[in-house]
Amino acid sequence: MMSNQLSLILLPTNKCNVACEYCFEEKTADFMTHDQLALTVEKLLDHMEHQHIPELIIYWQGGEVMIMQPEWFERAHELISAAASRRGKKIGHSLQSNMIGYSAKWNGVIREMFGNSVGTSMDFPNLYRKARGHTADDYTRIWARNIKLAREAGISVGVISIPNRETLRLGGEAFYSYFVDELGITDFQVNTSFSGGEINDAKTESILDMPALARFFVELADVWFERGYSAGVKLGPIDELLHHFMGRVARLPCIWQQNCADDFVSIDARGHVAQCDCWVTSYPEYRFGNVFGAQSFSQLMKESKARRRFVSRPEAMIEHETCAGCDYLSICHGGCPVRAYSITGEFLVKDPYCEVYKALFSRMETIAAKLSRARFARSLPVLPIRGDVVNRGTSL
Ligand code: SF4
Ligand code: SF4
Ligand code: SF4
Repeated sequence: MMSNQLSLILLPTNKCNVACEYCFEEKTADFMTHDQLALTVEKLLDHMEHQHIPELIIYWQGGEVMIMQPEWFERAHELISAAASRRGKKIGHSLQSNMIGYSAKWNGVIREMFGNSVGTSMDFPNLYRKARGHTADDYTRIWARNIKLAREAGISVGVISIPNRETLRLGGEAFYSYFVDELGITDFQVNTSFSGGEINDAKTESILDMPALARFFVELADVWFERGYSAGVKLGPIDELLHHFMGRVARLPCIWQQNCADDFVSIDARGHVAQCDCWVTSYPEYRFGNVFGAQSFSQLMKESKARRRFVSRPEAMIEHETCAGCDYLSICHGGCPVRAYSITGEFLVKDPYCEVYKALFSRMETIAAKLSRARFARSLPVLPIRGDVVNRGTSL
């Protein structure tokens, strides 16, 4: 670990209340107990001391967290806060839920533990997110109702969405309008699918035609810039790329970190440790070890051969892939290992979304350059030439 912050993707349960067809997790009926959680947190705090890491962010997800009880989280919050304060460390919490089991009983813990904010997932249109025995439309209806209730309770809701073949057919404008105009969501993120875990038809068809997906991302970037940028709508990772190319501080997603192994780790309800949620549930051969065992967390991380493969991956991308000659290497670093492995079956190959990333990087670089030129022009003194009006102002 090299960073000032450790990000833990924690699965307190491997169980879920729905059955999305493209889910990459192999689910089990396991739940973490408070004793196991306390042990895990102590080991992480030892590791943070050892590595001089001041802060831990826990991304709580599953499975589905809301099949547990809010009281379990209240107790968990107390345990973690007490342990962090004993060690002089900071621990923050972020919640990811499918929101299908949401009701007002969650409001207290969402407010106290999660800063009154929750992240959830929905696609437009929804093809693969389904509850057992229900259609995708039923799922969407329940989800939209619960999102509305949560927002009425003052909870800020962020949405992650994965484009599918129908999204591409409907286009960026329709996608943007669904989330922003119809649902009133002003903080959302577009992600790309990967066929992790056991393969099925939905996972296979969710890997889209790359040139078509690249066109969709570029179109969506343009729609967002025209309609959302000035209105303060957050659309990740498009908005963060704009920040990046404008030379501002940007929070780029894990797929574009220098090495996700430097910052992220995941632990599931059985104590298995791996790079992130897909690896921990679906690829046993890539697990780093088990946090409930005798080893310290630092030892486990240091001695894991599987982890060493992640650590060495960006270097291998430069040596063996076309990444070395790429204009965007310093942002992308070869992309995401789980996308590479689940889609190609190879670990040391570049992310198969390379073409999509390049198209988006290029578009956002162009928008940033135009924006910078327009701002620079506006900051110049007005010098009328032969009576022409030169300071006309410009939207770009
Ligand atoms: S994608 Fe998430 S909500 Fe859907 S089945 Fe998998 S874990 Fe559950
Ligand atoms: S494997 Fe991919 S999704 Fe997982 S942490 Fe690394 S970059 Fe992120
Ligand atoms: S955009 Fe493609 S070539 Fe460039 S660094 Fe990323 S994966 Fe490699």
